[in-house]
Amino acid sequence: MRDRRYDILFEPVKLGPITLKNRFYQVPHCNGMSATLPRGHAAMRSVKAEGGWGAVCTDIISIHPSSDTTPFPQVRLWDAAEDRSIRLLTDAIHEHGAAAGAELAHGGWAVANRYTREPLLSPIDMPSRRDPIQARAMDKSDIRAYRQWHRRAALQARALGFDIIYVYAADDLELLQFFLSRRRNQRSDEYGGSLENRTRLLREVIEDTKDAVGDTCAVVVRLTVDELSGPDGILAEQEGKDIVAMLAELPDAWDIKVSGWAEDSQSSRFAKEGYQEPYARYVKRVTTKPVIGVGRFTSPDTMVSQIKRGILDLIGCARPSIADPFLPRKIEEGRTDDIRECIGCNICVATYNVGSPINCTQNPTIGEEYKRGWHPERYRPAMSDDSILIVGAGPAGLECAQAMGNRGYRVQLAEATCELGGRVSRESRLAGLQEWARVRDWRVGQINKMNNVAIYRESLLNADDVIELAAPVVVIATGAKWRRDGFGRNNHKAIERSADARILTPDDLMDGVQPQGPIVVFDDDDFYMGGVIAETLKRQGVEQVSLVTPNSLVSAWTVNTLEQPKIHRRLAELGVKIYTNKNLAAMRRDTGELICVFSGEREVIDASQFVLVTSRLPELGLYHQLQNRLTAGSAGEVKSVHRIGDANTPGIIAMVVFQGRRFAEEFDMPADGHLRIRTEPVDMEDLSHYETRHANRSIYTNPT
Ligand code: ADP
Ligand code: SF4
Repeated sequence: MRDRRYDILFEPVKLGPITLKNRFYQVPHCNGMSATLPRGHAAMRSVKAEGGWGAVCTDIISIHPSSDTTPFPQVRLWDAAEDRSIRLLTDAIHEHGAAAGAELAHGGWAVANRYTREPLLSPIDMPSRRDPIQARAMDKSDIRAYRQWHRRAALQARALGFDIIYVYAADDLELLQFFLSRRRNQRSDEYGGSLENRTRLLREVIEDTKDAVGDTCAVVVRLTVDELSGPDGILAEQEGKDIVAMLAELPDAWDIKVSGWAEDSQSSRFAKEGYQEPYARYVKRVTTKPVIGVGRFTSPDTMVSQIKRGILDLIGCARPSIADPFLPRKIEEGRTDDIRECIGCNICVATYNVGSPINCTQNPTIGEEYKRGWHPERYRPAMSDDSILIVGAGPAGLECAQAMGNRGYRVQLAEATCELGGRVSRESRLAGLQEWARVRDWRVGQINKMNNVAIYRESLLNADDVIELAAPVVVIATGAKWRRDGFGRNNHKAIERSADARILTPDDLMDGVQPQGPIVVFDDDDFYMGGVIAETLKRQGVEQVSLVTPNSLVSAWTVNTLEQPKIHRRLAELGVKIYTNKNLAAMRRDTGELICVFSGEREVIDASQFVLVTSRLPELGLYHQLQNRLTAGSAGEVKSVHRIGDANTPGIIAMVVFQGRRFAEEFDMPADGHLRIRTEPVDMEDLSHYETRHANRSIYTNPT
């Protein structure tokens, strides 16, 4: 059972009229499913509730069509059309004893209303953040209407089963925050100017909400206490503190954080567990109401310390609850070793930003609860006593081994080197990526508890070795290697080079090759590796490092993980010379030739070595040998050979972990040729009520 030290985490906490069963609070987080895939959304939140969270909140719930995040999905309280899917959600959360929280939201000028085509609203005339349109300054009737929408949404949310109703003024996404912030509110009426005036609307909306639902629901204010934008914005120790002090006892709890999203959801490359404490520590001194805060908490000791030191009352988690929906249950059951700790890679954020349902590197089951019927803690029992050999103990092989082991199969996992983890072990030694080793550590920890999974290190297998091991099922998870010829996204042939040009790949550096400057890192991969290599070289003391990319942004895809500006800033601070919009035309003994992707203009720079971060090739020698032996009928007991992970399709770690899990989940299912995905059909019963003659009827209910 649980360690007594953690008892405090399981104390009930009163939030106004409701009581949470413990201090574990899954704060709102986006998931790319919301109203678009309501069954998937409900199933995902249900697993969180099952995992022991005292409160499980939704992502943003738009209160009115003038806050439309299209193409990003959101939950909507615009009319009754989505009532059933919202009910599905609150019922799923309640089924496991958690309180359901609704993050009522209005995005002001941070949205673009691409679907509803409603005018954008803002405290002042303001360009939209997203499209070449402007928001209009809200007049008094707009403000009155907004307050009515919020009140109506609060009542509707309560009627649909929510226990916690948010008043949301955070994330640099919300109208209420825009009213608070002097850099976004230069009104001259009673809603602008002094802090008291700028706080007026927030106060009114809290009072409206308390009045509407406060007798039965907890009213929680989500507030940005520091905009991290200097003295023009809200600063924690100044206006942030004053806002909380002015409204201290009005809401039932304070959920506090920094903004924007890139500061709130910092990756482990830039911030460690508990990084928001400096901004949160004063809040409990100015209110007696419970305080909720985040900081990518995965360690129960850190959580206890936050509470005992009077920083927080409730441990807010988004990413830690994604990586391990069962985090509270594991602490309660004394299984802290089993916690699958978030690695801070922000793939969960990136999947939302690219418009897909949520993925996670550590938890391949998130978003798959309904779609594929997967569960983070439960596995289908084995259907046979087949034994399986997995070759390669990278993230794909390890995940496959732990999942097959959990299913009850006998597994042999062979690894060529003495180290487990493959690319995650290697990459975690590069600058800023240390926490990524958790992908290995959790899986090795699970496997070590099983006596049906055997690991063989220093076992570089060839086809004869595999056949000798006599496992009927062989899974090849031998990974991929970075290409040395420069073939990549922009160059579909080898890059020109002289015979004496010195060329390295990220694999060489991870193998310990110590390069001498000047070094040109050519990044045609666009994700993290190019920037990480440049940073690592600088930190190793290489004096001249240049980063060349055909893209207009350094590490361009990290826009999706919210890291891009931070990466550019860090490289610039370290003295990395950055060349954007430049392809690498030729590599010579002491120089590199760059070519502008727009003008074709050429430029020669010093380079005694080149690191090519372009693309990778699967390591498939063993796979092909075994396939040939199967075809020739000389594969002994081996009946089938499969490939997963980077050996199958080189990709991000989240994808290769997913492939490892998928193999285990689908192994021994009948081969019926169907994709094993449950789609979410549009409800035809609802559609049958649709009549074209009603097409010109107003769909908006009157605000009441
Ligand atoms: P993935 O990301 O798909 O898991 P990795 O590159 O991280 O792939 O890991 C592949 C692992 O496979 C590495 O640890 C490598 O040492 C191991 N490996 C490659 N070839 C063999 C082989 N023939 N026998 C055993 N292990 C191998
Ligand atoms: Fe954490 Fe990465 Fe999973 Fe997001 S994707 S929850 S950052 S491990």
